[in-house]
Amino acid sequence: MIPAIEIRNLHKSYEDTIALRGIDLTIRPGEFYGLLGPNGAGKTTTIGIITGLVRLEEGSVSVFGKDIIRDYRFTRSKIGLSPQEFTSDWFFPIDKLLIFQAGYYGIPKKEAQPRVEELLERFGLTEKRGTKMRQLSGGMKRRFQIAKALVNDPDILILDEPTAGVDVQLRHMLWDFLRELHQQGKTILLTTHYIEEAELLCERVSIINDGSIVSEGTPQELIRSLGKGMIEVALSGWDGSLEAKMSSFDFVYEPETDGGRLIFSVDNPERELTNIIATLSSNECHIHEVKINKASLEDVFVATTGRGIND
Ligand code: ATP
Repeated sequence: MIPAIEIRNLHKSYEDTIALRGIDLTIRPGEFYGLLGPNGAGKTTTIGIITGLVRLEEGSVSVFGKDIIRDYRFTRSKIGLSPQEFTSDWFFPIDKLLIFQAGYYGIPKKEAQPRVEELLERFGLTEKRGTKMRQLSGGMKRRFQIAKALVNDPDILILDEPTAGVDVQLRHMLWDFLRELHQQGKTILLTTHYIEEAELLCERVSIINDGSIVSEGTPQELIRSLGKGMIEVALSGWDGSLEAKMSSFDFVYEPETDGGRLIFSVDNPERELTNIIATLSSNECHIHEVKINKASLEDVFVATTGRGIND
């Protein structure tokens, strides 16, 4: 399998700042991949190098097996980028900007027009087609920017914080749209500050901190690597003699006026819940309430970087 994006030993410094300290990443074709990291971790620099906006200093990057420097025409034609900052020419109507963008990829106007219409419609921008970029609201600018990244129908879509500063409704609309693109087979690389977003959308995630990748895996693998979750069972009918029968579990019992509460510390709450309930029920305990607290990607993030993503 030729990876969609393969990054080897990427280093980058800006004057007195070391931005990347040897990054390795392999993104498979059709994969939905997330890059998570706090401010200044090196996400935008990594994306900038892949897309040719930032000069590569040391290491290599290939896109569908072709080197981004030797075969830059090929590699750039495969990628659509929605950058973090709004960069588009402020003084042109947005439909014109989409046609211009297609032109950069050698797509003639006649061929681009139906695609532009489709994208304007898909992003709810048809009514604003004659509006200049600078007159759009923040959310509309973001939608426009993603439409622009898709104008050449790229195989790989790279999105640098696509949902930063957008309202909940638009965030959900963008999530639906990204899922749809993923189902169509596009490779998607996304950076985000919203852990929830990575957990919901991404098949694999890398956590980057201070220019290095500190962990990588599926969101579930990363969460599991952290270990413990908690199961809390409120019940009546518990008596001390049951302790021996439950000795394979790690738990504490807290008595309450109308029964008590068992608090289990478990590695895999979904799997262990059935055993716990079955053992308690077969020993005449009456269960009133069950609560599961799982670790989240946020917990993994804090554990690996030593800080919260929005700190
Ligand atoms: P954020 O989440 O805030 O966008 P990031 O993970 O994208 O952060 P980068 O923008 O890649 O991080 O920055 C990595 C480091 O490189 C930071 O310390 C930043 O200050 C520095 N840096 C980035 N671009 C430049 C530049 N053009 N000149 C000097 N330093 C830079």
